[in-house]
Amino acid sequence: MVRNIWGVGRNFADHAKELGNPVPQGSPLIFLKAGSCASINSNEIVLPHWVEDVHHEVELAVKLSALLHPVEGALALDLTERTQQSKAKKEGLPWTLAKSFDGACAVSAFFSLRELAPLTDRRIQLSVNDQLRQDGSFADLIFSVEQVVSYLKEHFPLCPGDLILMGTPAGVGPVVDGDRLKAEIPGILQHQWKVRKLQPQKTETKEN
Ligand code: ZN
Repeated sequence: MVRNIWGVGRNFADHAKELGNPVPQGSPLIFLKAGSCASINSNEIVLPHWVEDVHHEVELAVKLSALLHPVEGALALDLTERTQQSKAKKEGLPWTLAKSFDGACAVSAFFSLRELAPLTDRRIQLSVNDQLRQDGSFADLIFSVEQVVSYLKEHFPLCPGDLILMGTPAGVGPVVDGDRLKAEIPGILQHQWKVRKLQPQKTETKEN
C-alpha cells in the first residue's frame, strides 16, 4: 500500500500554458493525492459514476526507497476530474475531489531509474485509442527529480514507498468509458489500460 502520492503541478511549461496557468517560480507546486488512489500494474481503470470530465495526465512516477532515494520509476496517470478542479481553482478551494477519487492514480510496473539516465534524453507519451495525445521531453522539466525530492524532504514527512508524480506535458484531454490508453517511455517501457466507468446504482442493496 502506498502511503503518500506527492504530485508536482505545472512542471512542463507547455502544459501550464494550455490550462492558462503561470509557471511556478523558485519552488515546485506540490499537491497530494491520497496513497489509496494508487492502482499498481493493473490493465483496467475503473472510474466512479459521479465523475464528469476526467483528464489523462501521463507522468513519470518516482518511488522512494527505504532511505528515501529515488531509485525506481513507473509510468503513471494522474487522473484529474477537470470540472471539479476548475471549480475549486476559481473558488480558491482544495483540489482533493479532483485529484483523489477512487482509482485516480494508475501506475505501471516499476523499473530501475538508472535505465532512464540521462533522463533529459527521454520522452514520455500517451496514446488514446491509438492516437498520440501527449508527447513530451524530460529535457523540458522545470524542476528535476533531484530538485523535487530535495524540496519535498525539506518540507514534508516523506515515507519509504511514497510516489512522486513529476508532472505532465501538454495534450491532456478527456478519457471516457471504453477508451484504450497506452503510456510509453519509448525504448524502456509501455503500459496499457482499458477504461471502465461505473454506473450509478439504481436500487438500494439490502443488508441481511
Ligand atoms: Zn499531474
